[in-house]
Amino acid sequence: MPLDILTIGEALVEVMRTDIDQPLNQPGPFVGPYPSGAPFIFAVQAARLGLKTAAIGSVGADAFGECLLNQLEADGVVTDGVKRLADQTTGIAFVAYRADGSRDFVFSLGAGGHITDDMLQPALFAGARCFHIMGSTLSMSEAVLSVCHKALEMALNAGALISFDPNLRPELLPPENARIAFAPFIAAADIFLPTETELLQLSGADAVGDAVADLLAERPDRIIALTRGADGCSVFTADGRMDVAGYAVREVDPTGAGDCFDAAFISGILEGMPIREAAQLANACGAIAVSAKGPMAGAKSRASVERFMHDNPYQG
Ligand code: ATP
Ligand code: MG
Repeated sequence: MPLDILTIGEALVEVMRTDIDQPLNQPGPFVGPYPSGAPFIFAVQAARLGLKTAAIGSVGADAFGECLLNQLEADGVVTDGVKRLADQTTGIAFVAYRADGSRDFVFSLGAGGHITDDMLQPALFAGARCFHIMGSTLSMSEAVLSVCHKALEMALNAGALISFDPNLRPELLPPENARIAFAPFIAAADIFLPTETELLQLSGADAVGDAVADLLAERPDRIIALTRGADGCSVFTADGRMDVAGYAVREVDPTGAGDCFDAAFISGILEGMPIREAAQLANACGAIAVSAKGPMAGAKSRASVERFMHDNPYQG
């Protein structure tokens, strides 16, 4: 059966400090490994919402790779596109949280950064309804960027909707380079999911309205969902702007909010929901994601997201 969603990118496990304000430059306790990597958090959230989802990426032939694969299998994510590399270790992110909510990382991308042409199996693309890709993946290396160009072409040929989240990581790729690297993916995007900062940095515009007007002039049928953290999101289409308020929750771990939001928004669109409903579902998944500690702990099943929405009536 063809996929609802196909994604691609960096597979990781995350190992995190047990308490806030424990720096990474001194010995101290960690917990983990937790399965992670933005595209894989996205895939798990999509699968937990009930979509047939696959992710393309690489792990090492080691215990951390098994940790991620076991989680994907438990959630029913199709793992045919996940390669186990005998000569690489699985990617690891060490994460420390500061009291102000910011995070420090030490990354070892390892196998996670090895995405090659041979991993683009035509069977995964055939009939896929949506191909979702992130700027963090495009930022890993020139080699991965070129594989992603090929993946985009295959997805377009397969007739998939293209969804793009810039997930800008200035430490991997400065915004001025990202602007060039991401341009073909933004141009192809039916669904574009930036934050305000990302939209302005990537477009070079001074105001959101100008950036959005250009994007909609190029492609009037596209949807731009601008995420606004605790404030929810604003969705722009040729019909105008819709502000959709966020859910009030206590933020304990921002990791994965954007990925869970993306999965839910796309899921709503693929299911034919009106845009406001898709945006509310996405805000709910983003809010739930930030209220749980651990990269995939906040990606909930359809039933628990619906319970959350029922218990927290929309205030917008
Ligand atoms: P990420 O840190 O995962 O890259 P992002 O910067 O791409 O996230 P945000 O705008 O921070 O994106 O969050 C995505 C969505 O998650 C928001 O649009 C909102 O729906 C939800 N969200 C994020 N933070 C909060 C919060 N503190 N309270 C409620 N909802 C939130
Ligand atoms: Mg984002």
